Amino acid sequence: MERACNIAVIGGGPAGCSFSAFADKKNNITIFDTKPLLSSILPTGGGKCNITNAEPDFREFARNYPRGEKFLYSVFSRFSSSDAVDYFDKIGIKTVVLDNGRVFPEKMDSKFVRQKLLEQIKHCRYENQKITSLAAINGGFKLTSFEAEYFFDKVIVAAGGHCNWEMLKNASISLIPPKPALTGLCTEKSYRALSGVSLKNIYNYDTNFNGDLLFTHFGISGPLIFKISSIRARDEFPYTLIFDLIGKKIQDGRSFQKILDKNPKKELKNILAMYLPRTFAVEFSKKYSLELSACEIKSDLRDAIIYDLKNYKITVTKPRPDGETVTSGGVDLKFVNPKTMEYKTIPGLYFIGEVLNIDGFCGGFNLQNCWSNAYIAAAHINNL
Ligand SMILES: Cc1cc2nc3c(=O)[nH]c(=O)nc-3n(C[C@H](O)[C@H](O)[C@H](O)COP(=O)(O)OP(=O)(O)OC[C@H]3O[C@@H](n4cnc5c(N)ncnc54)[C@H](O)[C@@H]3O)c2cc1C
Repeated sequence: MERACNIAVIGGGPAGCSFSAFADKKNNITIFDTKPLLSSILPTGGGKCNITNAEPDFREFARNYPRGEKFLYSVFSRFSSSDAVDYFDKIGIKTVVLDNGRVFPEKMDSKFVRQKLLEQIKHCRYENQKITSLAAINGGFKLTSFEAEYFFDKVIVAAGGHCNWEMLKNASISLIPPKPALTGLCTEKSYRALSGVSLKNIYNYDTNFNGDLLFTHFGISGPLIFKISSIRARDEFPYTLIFDLIGKKIQDGRSFQKILDKNPKKELKNILAMYLPRTFAVEFSKKYSLELSACEIKSDLRDAIIYDLKNYKITVTKPRPDGETVTSGGVDLKFVNPKTMEYKTIPGLYFIGEVLNIDGFCGGFNLQNCWSNAYIAAAHINNL
């Protein structure tokens, strides 16, 4: 890049700060945020910061985004999770890979990641201001806060999923309405009596995913439910989910009959407790009779029980209030160039991170989206 640019970064989260680190130091960068820089990284991964995922194939990697998969092919082909790991290593953050490819800093501390990233952006200015409006003007941009007006050559919007969308109104940016994703779900029926009980590795027919379901005071949660909440984030409520609770453990009526024959005196609840958590087995058996013994279960009832175990229905009414980890929706990807992160109709205006209509599953995918978007935008500006 021949001449230095005046660049505004709206939002000092992982996307905005990593952009500032990747951008040529020649530029004058001002980061606007009302919160301390990178404070949003502190709660990630339960305070340990699941920084990315080790899945090596970028197409496979992109499959972990209910929104953004195709857009991210070209983004990840240029800055993958291994590029992110190399970068972190270079700035002193050694990483380790845990289960399901989840990558964490060796120190298992998001504060450490924050500190190391902040060291990279010491040269940038920080303005504790909320930007209320953004307008393209004379080949540059005017930003307005409650206190002042600012002019910049280029603007990077990295304002996250809770961006004040009003700010973008004057610039006529196309938006997909935001909705919660990666969240627990409230249910029609109360599962308070089962609160804390977890069903392990059950199968959901609607999404074709296996995983764990946790009953809670508000409804259902746990890794499988987070995934489902993302896949179905754009669906109307209420909707009904169907689960196979027993999988291969009891495949059909015949195999159930064998179990009943082996345990003729045992009550149904105790038989089911051999395969499911006891509290759940008792609750489930109430529908039939708590005193029902195996030898009393005739073929019709046996098949009905198996059917219910393999088609267990839960009706979901809404996402858990304030329970979202990420936002689905945001700036419409149709208008953003994945090779530059620039808004197609407004040169010099870039969108990166969760402000875009991109959201991933748990496992380090949302932060990787930030690192990769930030790199692409910075590389474009560095090479102008
Ligand atoms: C509890 C929790 C745990 C998580 N754990 C993980 C994890 O382990 N791994 C993972 O990959 N993802 C995780 N995520 C998701 C991840 O944190 C987000 O996807 C990521 O922070 C998005 O980064 P961002 O920079 O795009 O936006 P944000 O982190 O939301 O940052 C945006 C910033 O912009 C500022 N801002 C907004 N509007 C304005 C404005 N008008 N003017 C000035 N500033 C503004 C905000 O104050 C904010 O600081 C987690 C999320 C949560 C809530």
